[in-house]
Amino acid sequence: MNLARNVSTADFQRLDAAHHLHPFTDTRQLNAEKSRVMSKAHGVWLWDTDGNRYLDGMAGLWCTQIGHGRREVADAVHAQMMELEYSNTFFKTTHPPAARLSEVVAEVTPDGLNHVFFTNSGSEANDTVFRMVRYYWQLQDKPAKQIIIGRKYGYHGSTVAASALGGMDGMHKQAGMVPGVHHITPPHWFDFGGDMSREDFGVWAAKELERAIDELGEENVAAFIAEPIMGAGGVLIPPDSYWPEISRICSEREILLVVDEVICGFGRTGKWFGSDTYGLKPDLMPIAKGLSSGYLPIGGVMVADRVADVLIDKGGEFYHGYTYSGHPAACAAALENLRIMREERVVEHCAEEAAPYLQEKWRSFADHPLVGEARMVGLFGALELVPAKPGRTERFDPVGAVGTIARDFSFANGLIMRAVRDALVISPPLVITREEIDQLAKLVEKTLDDTLAELRKQGRIA
Ligand SMILES: *Cc1c(COP(=O)(O)O)cnc(C)c1O
Repeated sequence: MNLARNVSTADFQRLDAAHHLHPFTDTRQLNAEKSRVMSKAHGVWLWDTDGNRYLDGMAGLWCTQIGHGRREVADAVHAQMMELEYSNTFFKTTHPPAARLSEVVAEVTPDGLNHVFFTNSGSEANDTVFRMVRYYWQLQDKPAKQIIIGRKYGYHGSTVAASALGGMDGMHKQAGMVPGVHHITPPHWFDFGGDMSREDFGVWAAKELERAIDELGEENVAAFIAEPIMGAGGVLIPPDSYWPEISRICSEREILLVVDEVICGFGRTGKWFGSDTYGLKPDLMPIAKGLSSGYLPIGGVMVADRVADVLIDKGGEFYHGYTYSGHPAACAAALENLRIMREERVVEHCAEEAAPYLQEKWRSFADHPLVGEARMVGLFGALELVPAKPGRTERFDPVGAVGTIARDFSFANGLIMRAVRDALVISPPLVITREEIDQLAKLVEKTLDDTLAELRKQGRIA
């Protein structure tokens, strides 16, 4: 059934405005401007109901590693649904796709992570983390260890627990904070580095964790949660000095390290996991997004052997789970996605072909008059837009308006980029080819030029 047939774009926009509350959206503003109606996708391309084509520079929402429209995934899901569309994993039962997928994720994730708890999303994975770390410390006879330390600008999802772990002020203000979460400065040199060199700042930002543990009392701290590279916060790439210092602190102190790989996982940084890129040894590792390339919703928490042993040996029943934990169709989609990623060497393509080629072009955007910093690891990058160069001292006021102007030009030019504050971020499908990267880079350049011209016209920039 093609829902778009015989119905106009305006009809869908009308239905949407009348009934649909979108995530992270000002509904009144959206309804005034009208939704874009996407109706078709293939490879790195999306089409709307008016036939406009867009290069999907965000891989959906940081998830479509293998690109859109792979028939093999649809076929695998179809076959699974014809065989067993649903069965739970609660009452001493399992089913072939959940059992198989648990083996495959143990294979592709870093050594020492051999157990998985399945969820339907990254947010649910982080809610699971919240409950699991506290339960773990209870089992270790240290029930006072309850506080989880996260970071400002961190993003761990949108449920009550996950939004509290994240460091987005706007989210906290609208719904309140959960007690027992503490946030430290993120390793974002561009905004927070002051006069320090990048590497000195990286060590300083890591020592924030040590200072927080001392302040809160090590006997009260359960865990530190962090993304290897902060995604929704604006693709904030830490200085090279940051993670070694964090690893030192975590090994000296009695806290769990939770590495949120929901975006960085499954090849985004050029290795299978951000933990591989930065040499991290997570105790818990939330995954989602690229696990199924977004074909169906599925996430999970990978649990390190040293934590799993405690939970299994001493824990008894863990009162936690979702009706759709390890849903057969979602597991089938993830299995087929991971088969494609391994057999077609998607991570190797990212690391050896696509990332070096895009990164070279991306770094050259630092020469553009609007760009204060151009950063990228793997296929995961951002451009900081600034009113004057050299870039770190002046910012646009109010923050975010220029990012939105640039984002809107990007869409109009046929490239989907996202704006975070005044940074443009990009995270294309990992299968993107050189020719497509050439097209992407041309569209970025045009977007920067259009934005500069508009800002000059508005008198916001000299
Ligand atoms: C997207 C995201 C989440 C939340 O995942 P959902 O599937 O949207 O619930 C958690 N952590 C990180 C790092 C994310 O980027």
